[in-house]
Amino acid sequence: MKQLSNRALQIEESPTVYITSKAIELKASGKRIISLGAGEPDFDTPTAICEAAKKAIDDGKTRYCNVAGILELREAIAKKTTEIDGVKCTYKNVVVSNGGKQAVSNAFSAIINEGDEVIVFSPYWVTYPSLINFYGGVPVVVKTSENDGYKLHLDTLKKAITPKTKMIVLNTPNNPTGSSYTLEELKEIAKIVEEHDLYVLSDEIYEKIIYDGHKFHSIAKISDKLRENTIIVNGFAKSHAMTGWRIGYSVSNEVLAKRILSIQSQQTHHNCSISQYAALEALTNKEVDKDVEKMRKSYEDRRNLICEELSKIEDISFVKPHGAFYMFVNVSKYFNDKFKDSHSITDYILQQENVVTMPGEAFGEPSAIRLSFATSNENIIEACQKIKKALYSIKGR
Ligand code: PLP
Repeated sequence: MKQLSNRALQIEESPTVYITSKAIELKASGKRIISLGAGEPDFDTPTAICEAAKKAIDDGKTRYCNVAGILELREAIAKKTTEIDGVKCTYKNVVVSNGGKQAVSNAFSAIINEGDEVIVFSPYWVTYPSLINFYGGVPVVVKTSENDGYKLHLDTLKKAITPKTKMIVLNTPNNPTGSSYTLEELKEIAKIVEEHDLYVLSDEIYEKIIYDGHKFHSIAKISDKLRENTIIVNGFAKSHAMTGWRIGYSVSNEVLAKRILSIQSQQTHHNCSISQYAALEALTNKEVDKDVEKMRKSYEDRRNLICEELSKIEDISFVKPHGAFYMFVNVSKYFNDKFKDSHSITDYILQQENVVTMPGEAFGEPSAIRLSFATSNENIIEACQKIKKALYSIKGR
């Protein structure tokens, strides 16, 4: 048999998807598993959204539609992006995709040529470097550290830029660290981006999940140049507990949006028509905003709880996250001859205590593990106790 394509051979299954499947397998074998693994809200999709989807079926909205999405949804996204995020745009800038993930993939596909460098800040969402490689680009990883609250140093960014740099990827609030940039910080990054005429992929999927009175800001609103050069990626999975509906979108300049549309038209066509009507309801029904705020508040309470529980464990450290629903916990003081990295630690926690966590290697930072706190208070408390037990047993305590 002839060999498969190099592209197929080099791409790995997303480690987060892999761990999630492993947890499902263990559950199916009858074990009681507590999962702090997947980046998925534990809430049900708000009822009004589900009702709108049912109505769409009853109304026969089941046929092909525009590749870039139904006009009403694109207009609603443009209105929200203009009025709430302060980034002026119209429906022509919007392409609705199969989740934020396809929006990220489309953007890379439209911009990256063989050998182009794309700067990614670590810890990063697993998908960025994989897809950059997939499209022939070179991911240039710029590290941020726990001591700096996982915020980038402008000097380090400047040093990473070469004549081949085409784009930077910004994700605020961040998965996996929960760090979120202030407007002032974004303005400093924007100066560098403008000076070098770079594209920015601004992944804003956790926009609504933000704590301690912090405000979300899109780098695209800073100047006309930034608006032109930024591809905003957003979606409904995290904010509206709609992971399974696969609704995401990009907002970019009109030329780029047309290219993205062409790419998508050949690959997957438009996203599911029913999901699009559901997303339209999510944006236009004010009652849904209350559900979104209730979920946000609950994540904030859980963030406080998990910080309290983790502070009872010796020899770990973390930065209190200001957004998203993850704790990124440094466990490197537990490394020894047998446990050399976070992978071995997460495996051990799963084997010993049936708690699913994510290894930091997947996010480019092997000293830490990621815990999702999108789960019940009971699960958070029990999981932290179990993690403590597993970690202490590594040190023979
Ligand atoms: N961006 C980030 C930072 C994420 O964490 C995720 C999902 O985990 C996505 C994008 C994609 O979300 P979806 O494709 O489910 O809309």
